[in-house]
Amino acid sequence: MAESKPSYDRVLNFSAGPSALPLTVLEQCRDDMLNFKGAGMSVMEMSHRSKVFGEIFAEAKNDLREILKVPEDYEILFMQGGATTQFSCVPLNFSTLSDEVPDYIVSGGWSKKAAAEASKLLGKEVNIVTDNTEDLSVTVADPSTWRLNKKAPYTYYCVNETVYGLQMKDIPETKNPLIADFSSCFMSEPIDIAKFGAIIAGAQKNIGPAGATVVIIRKDLLGKAVPTCPVLLNYQTLASKDSMYNTPPCYAIYVCGLVFKWMKSQGGLEKLGEINRQKAKLLYDAIEGRKFWKAPVDAKYRSIMNVRLEIWPTEIRDKELEKRFVEKAESKGLLNLKGHRSLGGIRASIYNAQTLEACHTLVNFMKDYQDKNATR
Ligand SMILES: *Cc1c(COP(=O)(O)O)cnc(C)c1O
Repeated sequence: MAESKPSYDRVLNFSAGPSALPLTVLEQCRDDMLNFKGAGMSVMEMSHRSKVFGEIFAEAKNDLREILKVPEDYEILFMQGGATTQFSCVPLNFSTLSDEVPDYIVSGGWSKKAAAEASKLLGKEVNIVTDNTEDLSVTVADPSTWRLNKKAPYTYYCVNETVYGLQMKDIPETKNPLIADFSSCFMSEPIDIAKFGAIIAGAQKNIGPAGATVVIIRKDLLGKAVPTCPVLLNYQTLASKDSMYNTPPCYAIYVCGLVFKWMKSQGGLEKLGEINRQKAKLLYDAIEGRKFWKAPVDAKYRSIMNVRLEIWPTEIRDKELEKRFVEKAESKGLLNLKGHRSLGGIRASIYNAQTLEACHTLVNFMKDYQDKNATR
């Protein structure tokens, strides 16, 4: 896929998800739409049992394994239902690993939801190791204060809390299997897969369209589900049929496959991670460098994917100026910068497909806005 110049009146999309995809990927989708490589039909119209789709699937899975360096003792599954369905799958598949309740590290709204779902399905409260959601805080308590239980069947956490813009950079130290929601930072930089029992990730943040969900699971953890586990939520069912027990999200997997090819063309995860950190630094430096802006998240936990900012023109935060910023940005083609409805403020999501150039455009727009609105 050759680099091409954008000429489609496309906006700069800073959406938290579904989010921007690489232009070359979309162009390839367009070119393949009516007749995929001589098959005489689109990928959407193919049987998932056909040879041609089988090849699309195998290539996507192999590329994912190669790019992410997934060890051979881990299975890769493509599921449906988004990361939220995984909140149900995790306790159903792993709670049997010990007699105790699982550990949940709550670092934001997504891990809180996962913990609540597990408590509901298990019929008893999970062990909340730490919880930062009560005061909508912007940090995580020091790990020395965490109430981890060595005998828990598993320890769950969310690596990047998309709404809070809070990223756990250190992998928690646990003896039991560590289960991680990677949705909004999946494949944004290399991951040491061997540290995890399982990884879950919805596609629509970094690797493709909504509809596909990736699960990477250590093989010895398969086949441990509770007996009443619904057949399609049981990882063993999917693993035994190479994700094709029923119809997989074919088109979404095809687009993920194209994104994986794009990732390779960009130099893989080392290189993408470098660019992603550069993008985030550019934005945080712009915020830090001037009194007008504030990054509410503790520097240690600032996400490289979802950058939250607020406007403090004086000692008092000005939500009206934030609202106008989002509107003004939109009029300039910088879209979806509004913070999550639960927190307000501004949030720029800068996933893999968002370019460094787009981040420069945003920073320049911020400077311009400040010059026009600063009162000190
Ligand atoms: C978006 C998101 C989810 C929910 O994903 P769905 O695919 O909408 O279910 C869960 N966890 C994190 C970290 C997310 O960013």
